[in-house]
Order: sequence, then structure tokens, then C-alpha cells
Amino acid sequence: MTLVFATNNSNKIKEIQALLPSHIKLLSLKDIGCFEELPETQNSIEGNARQKANYIKSHYDYDCFADDTGLEVEALDGAPGVHSARYAGEHCDDHDNVNKLLMDLQDCNHRNAQFKTVIALHVNNDLLLFTGICRGQITRNKRGENGFGYDPIFIPNGFKETFAEMNLKVKNRISHRGKAMHELIAYLNTTNTTP
Ligand code: IMP
Repeated sequence: MTLVFATNNSNKIKEIQALLPSHIKLLSLKDIGCFEELPETQNSIEGNARQKANYIKSHYDYDCFADDTGLEVEALDGAPGVHSARYAGEHCDDHDNVNKLLMDLQDCNHRNAQFKTVIALHVNNDLLLFTGICRGQITRNKRGENGFGYDPIFIPNGFKETFAEMNLKVKNRISHRGKAMHELIAYLNTTNTTP
């Protein structure tokens, strides 16, 4: 079974590959010769995941899946949410986004947040959605060197370490993307999809 995972983020490819059964062959965007930026212009995490999967299907004719993730902070009414990648501005990076979030929560003791991942699977001309949520707390300072994005400031519920202080195996088991991927894999294992 061959599926395109609509990303060039090597961190994510690594994470997902560790979760996939061996009979599923994963191709990256690079593998199918897609070097353009995929459109992400919708105003929801679900909408962006759908948009990316539809784009690969219609422009490259591969069965595929695309994910979109956002960090939703309760005290900020769900922000940065769908804007997580560009929270600090158009040309900012992970470091800037994390610093902005810490500043925005500087005087706030209510630090509940959740990561949400939606995966849109385009297979046999059907589009299916799989969702994973990981609840936790935003720290006051960055901690840890692993992972990416907001990992250094997010402690999942039931743990003392940030995602950036955990090894990948532990993060995969409990993370938003790990949960959404497990839903996807369960689906792929129980249906007669022949991508
Ligand atoms: P994307 O939808 O995967 O492009 O992610 C949107 C934003 O959320 C980017 O700023 C990512 O760095 C961040 N992000 C996505 N997944 C994670 C994660 O597992 N940990 C921390 N940040 C993440």
C-alpha cells in the first residue's frame, strides 16, 4: 500500500514512520516531485487538512493524507489555533512563536491548552477525517531540546516533562498527532483500501 503524506517536515515524517506498519509505504512530497507550497487558506484546522489532501489528489493523482495541527490555549480563546504556524507574524519561526505565546501569557495563571491534529485521508475518491487531541499546560519557560514547534513549552497532562524533554517514543504514544495517526492506521488496517 502506497500513500503520500503531504508534508516535507522531516520531523513529522520521522514521527509517522515510527508509527506505521511495515506494509504501508509512505512517500513524501519530495518523493512525488512536489516542491510547491501547499495551500492552507481555510479558517479551521479541519479545513486546512482537507484542502491539502484535495490538492495532492487533484494535482498529482495520488491517494494521500494531510495533517494540520494547532495549539489552542484556553486563556486566549483558542488562539493561536489555526494560526499556530504564523502566530508571531508571516516571516517568523518556531522560536518567535514560542516567545510570543510566553509573553501573551506572562500575567496569566490559567495555562490550560490543547494540541489538536486533524488528518484528512483521500483514498478511493473518499475523504475521511481523523482527529487527535492532547491536553496539557503551557509552562512559564522553555524546557528541553527535542521535538519542534511549541514542544519546549507544553507539558501534557499526567507528565512533569515538556514534549521537548521526552523521547520521541513517549511523545508519539500520547501526542495529538500520534492519536490521530492511530485512528488512521486502525482504519487502514480494517478496510479494503488498495491505494
Ligand atoms: P502544522 O499544521 O503541522 O504545520 O503545524 C502548525 C504549527 O503548530 C507550527 O507552528 C508547528 O511548529 C506547530 N506544531 C505542530 N505539531 C506540533 C507538535 O507536535 N509540537 C509542537 N508544535 C507543533
